[in-house]
Amino acid sequence: MPEGDTIFRTARSIGRALIGKPITVFRSTYPLLTRFNDDTPLAGQTVDRVEARGKWMLICFSGGGILASHLLMNGRWHIYRHGERWQLPRFHMRIVIENDQYQAVGFRVPVAEMHTARSLERNSKIPRPNSDLLSDDFDADAALNRLLARPGEAIADALLDQSVLAGVGNVFKSEVCFVNGLHPFRAVGTLTREEAAAAIASARKLLLANVLEDSGDLIVTYRGQQRRTTHESDPSASLWVYGRNNEPCRRCGAAIRRRIQGDDARVTFWCPCCQPMPDGSDVDG
Ligand SMILES: [Zn+2]
Repeated sequence: MPEGDTIFRTARSIGRALIGKPITVFRSTYPLLTRFNDDTPLAGQTVDRVEARGKWMLICFSGGGILASHLLMNGRWHIYRHGERWQLPRFHMRIVIENDQYQAVGFRVPVAEMHTARSLERNSKIPRPNSDLLSDDFDADAALNRLLARPGEAIADALLDQSVLAGVGNVFKSEVCFVNGLHPFRAVGTLTREEAAAAIASARKLLLANVLEDSGDLIVTYRGQQRRTTHESDPSASLWVYGRNNEPCRRCGAAIRRRIQGDDARVTFWCPCCQPMPDGSDVDG
């Protein structure tokens, strides 16, 4: 599942290809988008803005339409120059937006809706900029209050909840808990306000570090022994705990644990020594 940093980078590249240039072609396999385009042709309009909101991407057109897409597990947006060969089969194409230089192609994009500013405002699934960790308008105090309003939920599940914070995906979830020494199964209610605030602050810091221009597509939270031979290197070499089941903790050497967590059965990794339960118990059994 793409995390907030991936969507942010995708939105940035799409923005570079599309913003300010007149659209020449808009096509979609989704009837609702096609109908919108029939009524209010996008060709001739320009793209004013491309924005990431958590895991949603918004493409804002000069005529006031806003295309909101969510990539879920398998969706991808690619940018091509005209004549360049697509890297995915044509039958996966859901949306194409072209100008005289580029084609932005949404492949297998499972959710795509056309909005106006007003319908976007009313939509409860698409996060507000102030809950998006990567937005300049992120409001950390409000996010802290939303987190603390879920005392019974495990911290790792609460971090993933896009209505609490937008942008944390499954990799960052485990990494943020590790960096803060928090057992991922700890109930939010057992955290002090300071601990909860620190978890939010480091989620933002880690995500921001991963959208720097030179950060590439690899998620990096651990830079200790980062090797530069990126091609054959294991992606988990850049992470503290995610994907490292039974491997030694990079801080203390204990074996990293792995367990399925939450209603959505997402995998979680943690170090039993660096991230103890406050009462000394553990969930391993
Ligand atoms: Zn450890």
